[in-house]
Amino acid sequence: MQGVGFRPHVHRLATSLGLCGSVRNGVDGVVICVQGPDADLDNFLAALTTDAPPLAAIHRISSVRVETEPGDSFVISNSLVPDEVVGVDAATDRMAFVPPDSATCDECLAELFDPLNRRYRYPFLNCTQCGPRFTIVRGLPYDRARTTLAAFPMCAACRAEYLDPADRRFHAQPTACADCGPVARLQWTNLGMRHQELSGGAPDADDPIATAARALATGLIVAIKGLGGYHIACDATNPAAVERLRVRKHRQDRPFAVMMPSVETIELTCELTPDERALLQSRERPIVLLAKRQNLPLEARRALDAVAPRSLSLGVMLPYTPLHHLLLAAVGAPLVMTSGNLSDEPIAFEDDDALERLSPLVDLFLTHDRPIATRCDDSVMRIVRGSTTFTRRSRGFSPRPVHLALPFPSHLLAVGGQLKSVFCLGRGHSAFLSHHIGDLENAAAYRSFTDAISHYSRLLQVHPQVVAHDLHAGYLSTQLAEQLDAAERIPVQHHHAHIASCMAEHGLSDPVIGVAFDGTGLGDDSAVWGGEFLVVDRVGYTRAAHLCYVPLLGGEAAIRRPRHMALSHAWAALGAGADALPPILRDRLGGDGTPLLRQMFEKGVSSPPTSSVGRLFDAVASLVGICHVASFEGQPAMELEAAADTTVSRSYEFDLRDDDAVTLIDATPVIRAITDDISSGLQAPVIAGAFHNSLVGMIVRVTDHIRQRTGVNRVALSGGVFQNALLATRAADALERAGFHVYTHRLVPCNDGGLSLGQAYTVALSRAVGQFEPCTDALSVLPPASAATPPAP
Ligand code: ZN
Ligand code: ZN
Ligand code: FE
Repeated sequence: MQGVGFRPHVHRLATSLGLCGSVRNGVDGVVICVQGPDADLDNFLAALTTDAPPLAAIHRISSVRVETEPGDSFVISNSLVPDEVVGVDAATDRMAFVPPDSATCDECLAELFDPLNRRYRYPFLNCTQCGPRFTIVRGLPYDRARTTLAAFPMCAACRAEYLDPADRRFHAQPTACADCGPVARLQWTNLGMRHQELSGGAPDADDPIATAARALATGLIVAIKGLGGYHIACDATNPAAVERLRVRKHRQDRPFAVMMPSVETIELTCELTPDERALLQSRERPIVLLAKRQNLPLEARRALDAVAPRSLSLGVMLPYTPLHHLLLAAVGAPLVMTSGNLSDEPIAFEDDDALERLSPLVDLFLTHDRPIATRCDDSVMRIVRGSTTFTRRSRGFSPRPVHLALPFPSHLLAVGGQLKSVFCLGRGHSAFLSHHIGDLENAAAYRSFTDAISHYSRLLQVHPQVVAHDLHAGYLSTQLAEQLDAAERIPVQHHHAHIASCMAEHGLSDPVIGVAFDGTGLGDDSAVWGGEFLVVDRVGYTRAAHLCYVPLLGGEAAIRRPRHMALSHAWAALGAGADALPPILRDRLGGDGTPLLRQMFEKGVSSPPTSSVGRLFDAVASLVGICHVASFEGQPAMELEAAADTTVSRSYEFDLRDDDAVTLIDATPVIRAITDDISSGLQAPVIAGAFHNSLVGMIVRVTDHIRQRTGVNRVALSGGVFQNALLATRAADALERAGFHVYTHRLVPCNDGGLSLGQAYTVALSRAVGQFEPCTDALSVLPPASAATPPAP
């Protein structure tokens, strides 16, 4: 690991033991040449890991004896090219890891607010323990000259610290101060200028951060340049400002994330467990999904509903750059901090592009002149059943690898799916997952995807000979895979990849029963899958059970129209006759006024068969009247979960039928019972609670049925539907009570953001026969905060 104070650590250690030699960054890791008596060398090797600095993650140490000239001191050498690495076996699998970005450390924070410190209120201070890393790296080895700080020559004072082995900034590549480093500046947009004219105030030129804080306090919208891109911010306690931001950003209902000045402020609006607090304060500083407090004062409730409507949780983060700390201290209130983009576009990170794309959305820019080399969105996490889980794995984690129990047979690229795109580069035991790239249908996101593949390949010295991709020929990731110059292309079924991603995390190679519930994925029979029970082993998968097919009315467009799925499931359960639906549903769904949809249903026109559980959630959310139009994928399920009365014990029964080796799961009795409940006036929260119970019951019955047939007692839960914490928690609990070993995600998202890891792992599993070594250190790549959480079963 580079840039985490490891070389200074080695220097101190060697000097304290009186050893001579050198330490340097190589492309393939840190290279240490050390000479001295054997006993001292042994002590040195032992202390190398035990006393390592907090940000360092040592994956492997290999040592060899070499001939050398006698030395008289221990030095830190400059970077070298790989050919100069002397005396180290070039055949071993060595590699350098670019560290992820890290939140401002406590010591830097103290300096930031210390009027006597020379970096008092300097918004870009950092040290070997904190600051930008991955997002400023242009090439390896990690040295200032190969970062976006190259354009900022150090002043004499910074250089002195940089060269002093006793200093916290010894070899801190991005170190800077007000005399030599980047500066913050303001820029008003036309929107903002107009506001200034109206209010009679002139744009002021004093402290940019104080001015931005004042603008935010008056309800203005400000674009803020952060570590991995631009955020758009407004006062989260001002519903009118939040509404204006929604209109400008074309973002109707989707919850916004909020940055809060302190843990104390967070506790005013959200429930907070010790694990959640630790995660919020971890150096990765992710957005953490927290349960909103009930019984808030009316005004606070109104503000919260504007920020995250019809959701149980609120995405919250703490300041993670000095600039954030200064701004939040000046504002003293929570700020909406949403990605700087328009709806589905990737987050803006280059200044010209940001100015062009975000000017119509904001009044003011708070920006700076330190370029961002790689875009990187905030990571999103939550604690479920005492474990950290990811909704999005990006800033703070990229490009940290997931360590696999199995080595890749050759350098590999897995391109993932279409939505929530993340790719994976595989080399040795390391699976390097990219930052979150977004939905590839967007042209800018697709460009970003191809650029990032080149950047990572170069940075990590991975030259893929094998490319793994989804079965779906229409995915842009699949099309890219076909264009790439590779020796071999391997298609991996979508839900197979989901389950394999969970197996990869846990180092599993023996057969598992995989429960893959999500919105959409192409099946090997060309149907749209998403309610699958797969038995996955080293060589592939068997589809053991799935939800019965219903037409996906209107194809993919149905994702935005839960009403279509309500009609499809209702007609499948009750018949498509004119009077089949009860009057209340005919009113609610327009059951009579939809001849076109009915025709599509009966003839299957533009309506592929689907077994999707995500679409079943859509159907139920619309049937009970909660959500008829979705402005983002997963909205109906999120709102159904939020509405569910969790004290309900009622449940509906799915029908199970064996058709040869496949168990068909029939949802029609569930839909009929829900329809009856609606007709008899039962309220939506009760039905929503009962529906969740029904799915849990069904999962246990079906997996138990498969266990009896196969003897497999391990269950892996994956797919985007398991972002539903209520379902995920109850399903895992119920399966454990039924005697299963249950495996859930901790290192990558259960949604399509984890797909590429699964694609990669299926290749490692099927190719690396005989090389399996049980993985004991899968937990070592967890964020440090999760050390407080119990290990998985
Ligand atoms: Zn620091
Ligand atoms: Zn300086
Ligand atoms: Fe999926």
